[in-house]
Amino acid sequence: MIPLQLEIDNHEFKVRSETAIVMFSGGLDSTVSLWWAMHRYKKVKAITVNYNQQWPQELDCAKSIIALTDTEHSIVHVDIPDHFWGIKNHRTRWQPVLLCSVAALDISDEGADIILGTLKTDRFPDSKPEFLQLLSDAIFKYADGGVEIVITAPLRAVKDKTAAAVLGFQLGTPMHLSWSCRFPVGDKPCYECVTCKERYRIGDEIQSLYGIGEDDLDSWSSVLGSPYHASFQNVTPDLKDFAEAFAEIIKIKNGEQGWRYYAPDGTERITSLIKHPPAQLVETAGSSSESLHIREYGFFEDETIWEVYICADGSVATTERLPDYDTIKRKLLKRFEK
Ligand SMILES: [Zn+2]
Repeated sequence: MIPLQLEIDNHEFKVRSETAIVMFSGGLDSTVSLWWAMHRYKKVKAITVNYNQQWPQELDCAKSIIALTDTEHSIVHVDIPDHFWGIKNHRTRWQPVLLCSVAALDISDEGADIILGTLKTDRFPDSKPEFLQLLSDAIFKYADGGVEIVITAPLRAVKDKTAAAVLGFQLGTPMHLSWSCRFPVGDKPCYECVTCKERYRIGDEIQSLYGIGEDDLDSWSSVLGSPYHASFQNVTPDLKDFAEAFAEIIKIKNGEQGWRYYAPDGTERITSLIKHPPAQLVETAGSSSESLHIREYGFFEDETIWEVYICADGSVATTERLPDYDTIKRKLLKRFEK
Protein backbone atom coordinates (compact mmCIF):
# COMPACT_ATOMS: atom_id res chain seq x y z
CA MET A 1 0.00 0.00 0.00
CA ILE A 2 1.30 3.41 -0.94
CA PRO A 3 1.68 5.79 2.01
CA LEU A 4 -0.83 8.63 1.95
CA GLN A 5 0.98 10.67 4.53
CA LEU A 6 3.76 12.28 2.53
CA GLU A 7 5.17 15.47 3.97
CA ILE A 8 3.89 18.24 1.69
CA ASP A 9 4.57 21.92 2.27
CA ASN A 10 1.70 23.54 0.42
CA HIS A 11 3.18 27.03 0.82
CA GLU A 12 5.69 26.08 -1.83
CA PHE A 13 3.25 26.34 -4.70
CA LYS A 14 0.53 28.75 -5.64
CA VAL A 15 -2.71 27.98 -7.47
CA ARG A 16 -3.91 31.30 -8.84
CA SER A 17 -5.63 30.59 -12.13
CA GLU A 18 -8.10 28.03 -13.48
CA THR A 19 -5.70 27.13 -16.28
CA ALA A 20 -2.29 25.52 -15.97
CA ILE A 21 0.35 25.42 -18.66
CA VAL A 22 2.68 22.56 -17.82
CA MET A 23 6.15 22.64 -19.32
CA PHE A 24 6.28 18.97 -20.08
CA SER A 25 9.54 17.38 -21.24
CA GLY A 26 8.49 13.76 -20.88
CA GLY A 27 10.96 13.28 -18.01
CA LEU A 28 10.02 11.95 -14.57
CA ASP A 29 9.63 15.28 -12.76
CA SER A 30 7.52 16.99 -15.41
CA THR A 31 5.32 13.89 -15.71
CA VAL A 32 4.53 14.00 -11.98
CA SER A 33 3.97 17.78 -12.30
CA LEU A 34 1.56 17.19 -15.20
CA TRP A 35 -0.46 14.70 -13.16
CA TRP A 36 -0.47 17.06 -10.18
CA ALA A 37 -1.79 19.85 -12.42
CA MET A 38 -4.46 17.58 -13.95
CA HIS A 39 -5.68 16.89 -10.42
CA ARG A 40 -5.51 20.53 -9.39
CA TYR A 41 -6.65 22.71 -12.32
CA LYS A 42 -9.85 22.96 -14.34
CA LYS A 43 -7.96 23.24 -17.60
CA VAL A 44 -4.47 21.92 -18.34
CA LYS A 45 -2.36 22.49 -21.42
CA ALA A 46 1.03 20.84 -21.91
CA ILE A 47 3.90 22.33 -23.88
CA THR A 48 6.97 20.37 -24.88
CA VAL A 49 9.88 22.43 -26.12
CA ASN A 50 12.07 20.61 -28.59
CA TYR A 51 15.36 22.52 -28.45
CA ASN A 52 17.32 19.82 -30.28
CA GLN A 53 17.80 17.61 -27.25
CA GLN A 54 20.41 14.92 -27.72
CA TRP A 55 17.90 12.44 -26.35
CA PRO A 56 14.92 12.63 -28.76
CA GLN A 57 13.41 9.55 -27.04
CA GLU A 58 12.11 11.95 -24.39
CA LEU A 59 9.83 13.54 -27.01
CA ASP A 60 8.34 10.15 -27.92
CA CYS A 61 7.78 9.46 -24.22
CA ALA A 62 6.02 12.82 -23.85
CA LYS A 63 3.71 11.93 -26.74
CA SER A 64 2.83 8.49 -25.40
CA ILE A 65 2.06 9.91 -21.93
CA ILE A 66 -0.20 12.62 -23.36
CA ALA A 67 -1.95 10.01 -25.54
CA LEU A 68 -3.43 8.49 -22.37
CA THR A 69 -5.21 11.76 -21.59
CA ASP A 70 -7.29 14.43 -23.31
CA THR A 71 -4.75 17.15 -22.54
CA GLU A 72 -4.03 19.72 -25.26
CA HIS A 73 -0.39 19.25 -26.22
CA SER A 74 1.84 21.56 -28.25
CA ILE A 75 5.36 20.69 -29.31
CA VAL A 76 7.34 23.85 -29.97
CA HIS A 77 10.57 23.50 -31.91
CA VAL A 78 13.16 26.10 -30.93
CA ASP A 79 16.05 25.44 -33.27
CA ILE A 80 18.99 26.21 -31.01
CA PRO A 81 22.36 25.63 -32.68
CA ASP A 82 24.71 23.26 -30.91
CA HIS A 83 27.38 25.89 -30.21
CA PHE A 84 24.92 28.12 -28.28
CA TRP A 85 25.15 26.13 -25.10
CA GLY A 86 28.59 27.36 -24.07
CA ILE A 87 29.54 25.35 -21.05
CA LYS A 88 28.79 21.64 -21.22
CA ASN A 89 26.06 21.55 -18.62
CA HIS A 90 23.61 19.00 -20.02
CA ARG A 91 21.82 21.85 -21.83
CA THR A 92 19.93 23.14 -18.84
CA ARG A 93 21.33 26.67 -18.97
CA TRP A 94 18.56 29.26 -18.64
CA GLN A 95 15.99 26.56 -19.18
CA PRO A 96 13.32 28.24 -16.99
CA VAL A 97 13.67 31.47 -18.99
CA LEU A 98 13.37 29.65 -22.31
CA LEU A 99 10.40 27.56 -21.15
CA CYS A 100 8.49 30.40 -19.48
CA SER A 101 8.98 32.69 -22.48
CA VAL A 102 7.44 30.06 -24.74
CA ALA A 103 4.58 29.44 -22.28
CA ALA A 104 3.83 33.17 -21.94
CA LEU A 105 3.09 33.30 -25.68
CA ASP A 106 0.23 30.85 -25.19
CA ILE A 107 -1.53 32.65 -22.34
CA SER A 108 -4.92 34.17 -23.08
CA ASP A 109 -6.58 37.16 -21.37
CA GLU A 110 -7.78 34.94 -18.52
CA GLY A 111 -4.21 34.33 -17.39
CA ALA A 112 -2.64 31.02 -16.40
CA ASP A 113 -0.21 29.41 -14.02
CA ILE A 114 2.98 28.16 -15.64
CA ILE A 115 4.07 24.87 -14.08
CA LEU A 116 7.73 23.90 -14.01
CA GLY A 117 8.98 20.50 -12.87
CA THR A 118 11.66 22.06 -10.67
CA LEU A 119 12.65 20.20 -7.50
CA LYS A 120 13.59 21.60 -4.12
CA THR A 121 16.99 19.94 -4.54
CA ASP A 122 17.75 21.40 -7.99
CA ARG A 123 21.02 23.24 -7.64
CA PHE A 124 20.90 25.64 -10.61
CA PRO A 125 20.50 29.26 -9.45
CA ASP A 126 17.78 29.90 -12.07
CA SER A 127 15.65 27.14 -10.50
CA LYS A 128 15.45 28.92 -7.14
CA PRO A 129 12.10 30.35 -6.03
CA GLU A 130 13.55 33.88 -5.75
CA PHE A 131 14.55 33.74 -9.41
CA LEU A 132 11.22 32.25 -10.52
CA GLN A 133 9.43 35.02 -8.60
CA LEU A 134 11.48 37.68 -10.44
CA LEU A 135 10.78 35.99 -13.75
CA SER A 136 7.09 35.73 -12.93
CA ASP A 137 7.02 39.44 -11.99
CA ALA A 138 8.79 40.38 -15.21
CA ILE A 139 6.37 38.42 -17.41
CA PHE A 140 3.26 39.36 -15.42
CA LYS A 141 3.87 43.03 -14.69
CA TYR A 142 4.88 43.83 -18.23
CA ALA A 143 2.31 41.63 -19.96
CA ASP A 144 -0.27 43.24 -22.24
CA GLY A 145 -3.37 44.15 -20.26
CA GLY A 146 -1.97 43.00 -16.93
CA VAL A 147 -2.81 39.33 -17.44
CA GLU A 148 -2.13 37.35 -14.29
CA ILE A 149 0.68 34.87 -14.77
CA VAL A 150 2.21 32.86 -11.95
CA ILE A 151 5.18 30.54 -12.28
CA THR A 152 4.89 27.69 -9.88
CA ALA A 153 6.86 24.52 -9.15
CA PRO A 154 4.61 22.08 -7.27
CA LEU A 155 7.34 19.49 -6.70
CA ARG A 156 9.15 21.98 -4.47
CA ALA A 157 6.50 21.10 -1.91
CA VAL A 158 8.25 17.79 -1.24
CA LYS A 159 11.77 17.37 0.06
CA ASP A 160 13.52 15.62 -2.84
CA LYS A 161 13.23 13.63 -6.05
CA THR A 162 12.39 10.38 -4.24
CA ALA A 163 9.51 12.08 -2.42
CA ALA A 164 8.41 13.52 -5.79
CA ALA A 165 8.23 9.95 -7.14
CA VAL A 166 6.17 8.91 -4.11
CA LEU A 167 3.85 11.83 -4.85
CA GLY A 168 3.72 10.44 -8.40
CA PHE A 169 2.52 7.09 -7.01
CA GLN A 170 -0.14 8.78 -4.93
CA LEU A 171 -1.42 10.68 -7.94
CA GLY A 172 -1.40 7.59 -10.19
CA THR A 173 1.24 9.00 -12.56
CA PRO A 174 2.47 6.75 -15.40
CA MET A 175 6.09 7.34 -14.39
CA HIS A 176 7.29 4.22 -16.21
CA LEU A 177 6.52 5.94 -19.53
CA SER A 178 8.80 8.89 -18.69
CA TRP A 179 12.38 9.21 -19.91
CA SER A 180 15.51 9.89 -17.86
CA CYS A 181 18.64 8.94 -19.84
CA ARG A 182 20.93 11.62 -21.29
CA PHE A 183 23.06 9.26 -23.39
CA PRO A 184 20.72 6.64 -24.84
CA VAL A 185 22.06 3.69 -26.81
CA GLY A 186 19.64 3.22 -29.69
CA ASP A 187 16.14 3.18 -28.20
CA LYS A 188 17.33 2.07 -24.78
CA PRO A 189 18.63 4.02 -21.79
CA CYS A 190 22.38 3.61 -21.20
CA TYR A 191 21.86 2.60 -17.55
CA GLU A 192 25.17 4.33 -16.75
CA CYS A 193 24.74 8.11 -17.01
CA VAL A 194 24.00 10.39 -14.04
CA THR A 195 20.25 10.50 -14.67
CA CYS A 196 19.97 6.73 -15.26
CA LYS A 197 21.83 6.12 -11.99
CA GLU A 198 19.58 8.62 -10.24
CA ARG A 199 16.52 6.67 -11.40
CA TYR A 200 18.00 3.46 -9.91
CA ARG A 201 18.73 5.25 -6.67
CA ILE A 202 15.12 6.43 -6.47
CA GLY A 203 13.94 2.88 -7.13
CA ASP A 204 16.06 1.66 -4.20
CA GLU A 205 14.95 4.51 -1.94
CA ILE A 206 11.22 4.18 -2.52
CA GLN A 207 11.62 0.55 -1.52
CA SER A 208 13.67 1.10 1.62
CA LEU A 209 12.04 4.36 2.79
CA TYR A 210 8.45 3.99 1.61
CA GLY A 211 8.01 0.25 1.14
CA ILE A 212 7.01 0.59 -2.53
CA GLY A 213 8.49 -2.15 -4.74
CA GLU A 214 11.48 -0.80 -6.67
CA ASP A 215 10.21 -2.34 -9.94
CA ASP A 216 6.87 -0.58 -9.47
CA LEU A 217 8.50 2.70 -10.55
CA ASP A 218 8.88 1.22 -14.01
CA SER A 219 5.53 -0.51 -14.45
CA TRP A 220 1.82 0.25 -14.59
CA SER A 221 1.77 -0.31 -10.81
CA SER A 222 2.46 3.40 -10.43
CA VAL A 223 -0.96 4.02 -11.99
CA LEU A 224 -3.06 1.04 -10.94
CA GLY A 225 -2.14 1.14 -7.26
CA SER A 226 -2.97 4.82 -6.72
CA PRO A 227 -5.00 5.22 -3.52
CA TYR A 228 -6.25 8.51 -4.98
CA HIS A 229 -8.19 6.68 -7.67
CA ALA A 230 -11.72 6.46 -6.34
CA SER A 231 -12.90 2.99 -5.36
CA PHE A 232 -16.36 1.47 -5.68
CA GLN A 233 -15.99 -0.15 -2.25
CA ASN A 234 -16.91 1.22 1.15
CA VAL A 235 -19.48 3.75 -0.04
CA THR A 236 -21.77 4.74 2.82
CA PRO A 237 -25.50 3.80 2.43
CA ASP A 238 -26.70 7.45 2.48
CA LEU A 239 -24.29 8.44 -0.32
CA LYS A 240 -25.22 5.30 -2.28
CA ASP A 241 -28.95 6.10 -2.08
CA PHE A 242 -28.37 9.74 -2.96
CA ALA A 243 -26.19 8.78 -5.96
CA GLU A 244 -28.81 6.40 -7.31
CA ALA A 245 -31.51 9.08 -7.11
CA PHE A 246 -29.12 11.68 -8.54
CA ALA A 247 -28.22 9.49 -11.54
CA GLU A 248 -31.91 8.77 -12.13
CA ILE A 249 -32.87 12.46 -12.15
CA ILE A 250 -29.91 13.93 -13.99
CA LYS A 251 -29.62 11.11 -16.63
CA ILE A 252 -25.88 11.04 -17.11
CA LYS A 253 -25.62 11.26 -20.87
CA ASN A 254 -23.20 14.12 -21.19
CA GLY A 255 -20.97 13.19 -18.30
CA GLU A 256 -17.19 12.96 -18.37
CA GLN A 257 -15.39 9.94 -19.73
CA GLY A 258 -13.04 8.07 -17.45
CA TRP A 259 -11.43 4.67 -17.04
CA ARG A 260 -12.85 2.06 -14.71
CA TYR A 261 -10.50 -0.81 -13.91
CA TYR A 262 -9.46 -3.45 -11.39
CA ALA A 263 -6.44 -2.63 -9.21
CA PRO A 264 -3.89 -5.39 -8.46
CA ASP A 265 -5.62 -6.02 -5.10
CA GLY A 266 -8.94 -6.65 -6.88
CA THR A 267 -10.57 -3.33 -5.93
CA GLU A 268 -12.57 -1.72 -8.73
CA ARG A 269 -11.40 1.87 -9.22
CA ILE A 270 -11.98 4.80 -11.55
CA THR A 271 -9.86 7.71 -12.74
CA SER A 272 -10.90 10.72 -14.79
CA LEU A 273 -7.34 11.44 -15.93
CA ILE A 274 -6.66 8.38 -18.06
CA LYS A 275 -9.17 8.41 -20.87
CA HIS A 276 -7.39 6.21 -23.40
CA PRO A 277 -5.74 3.23 -21.68
CA PRO A 278 -3.69 1.07 -24.08
CA ALA A 279 -5.45 -2.12 -25.25
CA GLN A 280 -2.90 -4.34 -23.52
CA LEU A 281 -3.59 -2.64 -20.20
CA VAL A 282 -7.34 -2.91 -20.62
CA GLU A 283 -6.85 -6.65 -21.12
CA THR A 284 -5.18 -7.04 -17.74
CA ALA A 285 -6.93 -4.39 -15.66
CA GLY A 286 -10.34 -4.44 -17.28
CA SER A 287 -12.56 -1.69 -18.53
CA SER A 288 -16.20 -0.89 -18.56
CA SER A 289 -18.61 0.73 -20.93
CA GLU A 290 -20.13 2.41 -17.87
CA SER A 291 -17.25 4.84 -17.56
CA LEU A 292 -19.45 7.88 -18.23
CA HIS A 293 -19.81 9.78 -14.98
CA ILE A 294 -20.44 12.99 -13.09
CA ARG A 295 -17.42 13.87 -10.99
CA GLU A 296 -17.45 16.09 -7.93
CA TYR A 297 -14.23 16.96 -6.16
CA GLY A 298 -12.50 19.29 -3.78
CA PHE A 299 -9.36 19.69 -1.70
CA PHE A 300 -8.54 19.34 1.96
CA GLU A 301 -6.32 21.88 3.70
CA ASP A 302 -3.23 19.78 3.03
CA GLU A 303 -4.08 19.87 -0.71
CA THR A 304 -5.19 16.22 -0.76
CA ILE A 305 -7.91 15.78 -3.35
CA TRP A 306 -11.27 14.11 -2.64
CA GLU A 307 -13.49 12.80 -5.41
CA VAL A 308 -16.95 11.34 -5.83
CA TYR A 309 -17.95 9.69 -9.12
CA ILE A 310 -21.57 8.99 -9.90
CA CYS A 311 -21.69 6.68 -12.91
CA ALA A 312 -24.46 6.42 -15.47
CA ASP A 313 -25.65 3.12 -13.93
CA GLY A 314 -26.03 4.79 -10.52
CA SER A 315 -22.93 3.14 -9.04
CA VAL A 316 -20.71 5.43 -7.00
CA ALA A 317 -16.98 5.57 -6.32
CA THR A 318 -15.15 7.70 -3.79
CA THR A 319 -11.65 8.42 -2.58
CA GLU A 320 -10.79 7.05 0.84
CA ARG A 321 -10.84 10.51 2.43
CA LEU A 322 -14.05 12.50 1.98
CA PRO A 323 -15.63 15.59 3.51
CA ASP A 324 -18.90 15.05 5.38
CA TYR A 325 -21.94 13.82 3.48
CA ASP A 326 -23.73 17.21 3.62
CA THR A 327 -20.82 19.00 1.94
CA ILE A 328 -20.78 16.46 -0.91
CA LYS A 329 -24.57 16.61 -1.28
CA ARG A 330 -24.57 20.43 -1.32
CA LYS A 331 -21.90 20.53 -4.03
CA LEU A 332 -23.75 18.01 -6.20
CA LEU A 333 -27.10 19.74 -5.78
CA LYS A 334 -25.53 23.03 -6.94
CA ARG A 335 -25.46 21.49 -10.41
CA PHE A 336 -29.24 21.81 -10.57
CA GLU A 337 -28.93 25.58 -10.07
CA LYS A 338 -26.85 25.90 -13.22
ZN1 LIG B 1 21.62 6.93 -19.23
